[in-house]
Amino acid sequence: MSGLLLILHPLPDGSLSKSARETVTVAQTTAQALGMPWCIGLSGSATQKAADALAGTGAASILAVAGADFDVPRYASDAAAAEALARQSGAEIVLAPASARFSRCLAGVAQRLGGRIDTHITGLEVNGGTLRARRWYYRQRMEAVFSRAHRPWFLLIDGGIATPWQGPAGQAAVTAVAVTLADDSRRTTVVGLQAPASDAQTIRPDANVLFVAGAGWTKKQADGQPHVGEAATLIRGFLGKAQASLGSSKSLVDLKTEGQQTLDFMSHLNQVGQTGSTPRHPKGLSTCCHGEEPHVVGWRFIGERRAINLDPNCGWAQGKADVVYVADAFEVMRNVNAMLGAS
Ligand SMILES: Cc1cc2nc3c(=O)[nH]c(=O)nc-3n(C[C@H](O)[C@H](O)[C@H](O)COP(=O)(O)OP(=O)(O)OC[C@H]3O[C@@H](n4cnc5c(N)ncnc54)[C@H](O)[C@@H]3O)c2cc1C
Repeated sequence: MSGLLLILHPLPDGSLSKSARETVTVAQTTAQALGMPWCIGLSGSATQKAADALAGTGAASILAVAGADFDVPRYASDAAAAEALARQSGAEIVLAPASARFSRCLAGVAQRLGGRIDTHITGLEVNGGTLRARRWYYRQRMEAVFSRAHRPWFLLIDGGIATPWQGPAGQAAVTAVAVTLADDSRRTTVVGLQAPASDAQTIRPDANVLFVAGAGWTKKQADGQPHVGEAATLIRGFLGKAQASLGSSKSLVDLKTEGQQTLDFMSHLNQVGQTGSTPRHPKGLSTCCHGEEPHVVGWRFIGERRAINLDPNCGWAQGKADVVYVADAFEVMRNVNAMLGAS
């Protein structure tokens, strides 16, 4: 058993997602640092097209499980393809992006090969010839750097930790790997895809800015009245112009379940924090949110942090933000939107 394998699911048109191209960079640098050959394993109906796009990566070989059966996200066929690719390659290190598909099937594949798996990997480094992985524990409060002697070692790589690979396409030689699916591996069928309209989609993982709204947007303002309608217009106006991703505090999304008037385009999926998400963006702007620790712990991977709050003693001012504007967020966002040309 030797070498490193990177497994990817090309889209049916042969293109590769950003997170897939990020793992190409991770595989290249890791294999180089370990001084071991590496190969790529693909599955789906457009494997030749994807292989041609990856021709300049420096991978020693490209293996493919080809067929439309492998386009759809389904445990049985995804696991069968990944298992065949891993067996054929004989790799001791197997990498894959932490997509929903790989997160679902790869632990089972590791089990079939008698291997071990680690998930949510945020970094790989080689020290004295030993591969070490990084991941966060306890809601990103503690980071561990660890290694394993057991092989094969499967690692699911989180998005946003490497520059997506880009290079010229070429003509790639592909080694076919045969997988025959039994009828019971096709029992699950994908009947269609339902996705919200793009303007209704407020969670944008690739956005440069995370805009966080807190419960203050729904509270009584200086005139003694709440202004939830205007809050919604200001927030949507900013999101549309800046193409920012929308985050929320827990208090704001909880208001809905408490029957209070709130922002109808928010759900618990937007919640950032200890019991919410930990998004990754270069910049973040917190508005009308107090900046309490259970919320701010979700900002671990936000680069530059700014906050707008009426309260000069809010949590953000206690060393949790780079810049705090002690100001009325309604007024600030009205002006920001006017500068951006939004309503
Ligand atoms: C176990 C546990 C887990 C939790 N998990 C999470 C979590 O995952 N995520 C999370 O967010 N919270 C979480 N919380 C709750 C967290 O502690 C806070 O209660 C919550 O984040 C407060 O939300 P908020 O800041 O929006 O609301 P508030 O505390 O009500 O703050 C509103 C802020 O708006 C400001 N404001 C009002 N009007 C304006 C204006 N016009 N301009 C500018 N500022 C204005 C006010 O000054 C105030 O600071 C958790 C709590 C516990 C106990």
